[in-house]
Amino acid sequence: MTAAPFTPPFAEPAPRALCTDCGVSRMQDPRACGHACQFIKPDYPAMEQQVHGRARDPARPDELYFGPFRRMLRASMVQPRAGAQWTGIVTRIAERLLETGAVDAVLAMAPDSADKWKPMPVLVTRAADMALCRGMRMGYAPLLALLEPARAAGHKRIALIGIPCQVYALRALEAELGFERIYVIGTPCSDNTTTEKFHGFLDLLSDQPDSITYLEFRADYLVELRFSDGRKQEIPFLKLPISKLPRDFFPLTCRTCVDYTNVLADITVGYSGLEFARTRLEMKAAETVVHLRREKPNRMRHMIPAHVWALVKPYGLVPQDGERKK
Ligand SMILES: Cc1cc2nc3c(=O)[nH]c(=O)nc-3n(C[C@H](O)[C@H](O)[C@H](O)COP(=O)(O)OP(=O)(O)OC[C@H]3O[C@@H](n4cnc5c(N)ncnc54)[C@H](O)[C@@H]3O)c2cc1C
Ligand code: SF4
Ligand code: SF4
Repeated sequence: MTAAPFTPPFAEPAPRALCTDCGVSRMQDPRACGHACQFIKPDYPAMEQQVHGRARDPARPDELYFGPFRRMLRASMVQPRAGAQWTGIVTRIAERLLETGAVDAVLAMAPDSADKWKPMPVLVTRAADMALCRGMRMGYAPLLALLEPARAAGHKRIALIGIPCQVYALRALEAELGFERIYVIGTPCSDNTTTEKFHGFLDLLSDQPDSITYLEFRADYLVELRFSDGRKQEIPFLKLPISKLPRDFFPLTCRTCVDYTNVLADITVGYSGLEFARTRLEMKAAETVVHLRREKPNRMRHMIPAHVWALVKPYGLVPQDGERKK
């Protein structure tokens, strides 16, 4: 069955305290958030066992950072794809899964027709349409709300391209969804915010923010901007107008989420050099502890897995009474 990319109407989201609107609260049973959400009662060791068949191996120190993995590869498309965030490996994998018939449909994000920076969940069944999904958008959109429409359309084998908070919920619900096979292509994620707030950031970067077509926080500590007239600009992280951003620019979810590398994906495609990625993971682990301790101390016991405490220990951050599960 092949048809143009499709976005069904979604139900309204249910109100949730810590939430990135992954789509579960818009499904037939919004109560599924209770056991699916990475911000409510996540169980990373159990989920890693379920997905990868084993725990993080202490004999492979990088697994403390990145989670259980078979191997890491440095790769790029020989012919970078137009419009891709990097070279287009993510969308090419999905394209290939459709071309070879390994899946009937792919759940991914395309740009919203009214705002190129806003992600819009789409169900893609034609390989050529994966090109529409290339590139990174800032913000959240209810990707998992596509699961029930995909099943209703008769799709049995699907792929999903998602960020970590979407992938955690997908894995938690996978067994009860009734698909024959779900391939999960993940990207790392950090420092996300709503598309509306992200526009405020673009306004600070340029007096012609609408002409910005591409933005990336690169591993060489420069932000790369591209403009519609072909111009490029590189800004050192330290010169970004971060101090001018409102205090709530980054929501607490994104300041405290513990899965930068998308550990429950079948494959994660990111862009960081290894040392930068380890550093980023340590920084994120410390941010999780500091921000939760300040703003939601009662969530620490449930939200912070043991490997995060291990990452912050060398920096003198240790669990206080009640902050860690016994
Ligand atoms: C908010 C955000 C933050 C990120 N932060 C990092 C980071 O810190 N480090 C890192 O290594 N990588 C990060 N990434 C991933 C990175 O931007 C690239 O997507 C990745 O390197 C793959 O590049 P590519 O050329 O293979 O992807 P492409 O082939 O261009 O495909 C990109 C895919 O991303 C998906 N996508 C785009 N926007 C969103 C969104 N808002 N929500 C969910 N899915 C989306 C699309 O479905 C598309 O399939 C982030 C991605 C997002 C969305
Ligand atoms: S599972 Fe998804 S929709 Fe439900 S609370 Fe968590 S992020 Fe929000
Ligand atoms: S930073 Fe974490 S919580 Fe925020 S969108 Fe990305 S994966 Fe989700």
